[in-house]
Amino acid sequence: MLIDTHAHLNFSAFKDDGPDIIQQIVNDDMKVINVGSQLSTSKRAVELADKHQGNLYAAVGLHPIHLFAMDYDEMEMPFKTKKEDFSQEAYEKLAEHKNVVAIGETGLDYFHRPKDIAEMEFINKQKWTFLKELQLAKKLGLPYILHCRDSREKPGQAYKDILAVLKEFKYFKGVIHCFSSDWDIAAKFLDMGLMISFTGIITYPKTNELTRVVKKTPLDRIMAETDAPYLAPQIVRGKRNEPRFVRYIIDQIAEIKGKEFNEVNEAVTRNANQFFGLK
Ligand SMILES: [Zn+2]
Repeated sequence: MLIDTHAHLNFSAFKDDGPDIIQQIVNDDMKVINVGSQLSTSKRAVELADKHQGNLYAAVGLHPIHLFAMDYDEMEMPFKTKKEDFSQEAYEKLAEHKNVVAIGETGLDYFHRPKDIAEMEFINKQKWTFLKELQLAKKLGLPYILHCRDSREKPGQAYKDILAVLKEFKYFKGVIHCFSSDWDIAAKFLDMGLMISFTGIITYPKTNELTRVVKKTPLDRIMAETDAPYLAPQIVRGKRNEPRFVRYIIDQIAEIKGKEFNEVNEAVTRNANQFFGLK
């Protein structure tokens, strides 16, 4: 049994062969959490989860990059974002579906700032929305999935700002997804009681500091995810990522920790089942 705790089969990258990939997930008895990034993809994640109960689950949320209109080029997959303002009412209604297991992805992304938006406005709008999503998670007793990306100019700043918001808000039922910072920052999330989730980035060359984070993070605090369609692990790099490739991430965690695949897989599976309350 494999669990991919963060994928986007709800995205248009899977519009042609999504049904085949989902059929394979059902045949393999995998579990996959499809994570929303705006209202439309959150709705799609809920639809998929309702249709494939026990295999697919949903997280609903507004990703910080969707607060502004912009062109992106993510790992050779270009896309445009439209501006969306967070609607508490719309997301709360969606989050009440029984197959919704988390709020997210939410958080802070300082990597791409649209040229016409001043830095303060850019950061403040993200923080405001992030806080609204934390409030919703707390109100519904759901965990939240955090996205965090630093700007090139100020490494560590987005992570520090997220930590500051969490410290003040004091609801610590979260996972920091696609962790890609250093051990000092990882330790701060762990001290707060959050989980840390790793993607295929840990399989890429020249990720020494991240390898150190994997090594030092206790096995009962780790989850594995693909973030498909993005971030395909090294062995399939250049391809569109898929949930089944989560095995390569679990493999890499096992290798770094000097443990057997099965031991690590059992641990990350148990962690995900507990954290998201999967049935
Ligand atoms: Zn994602």
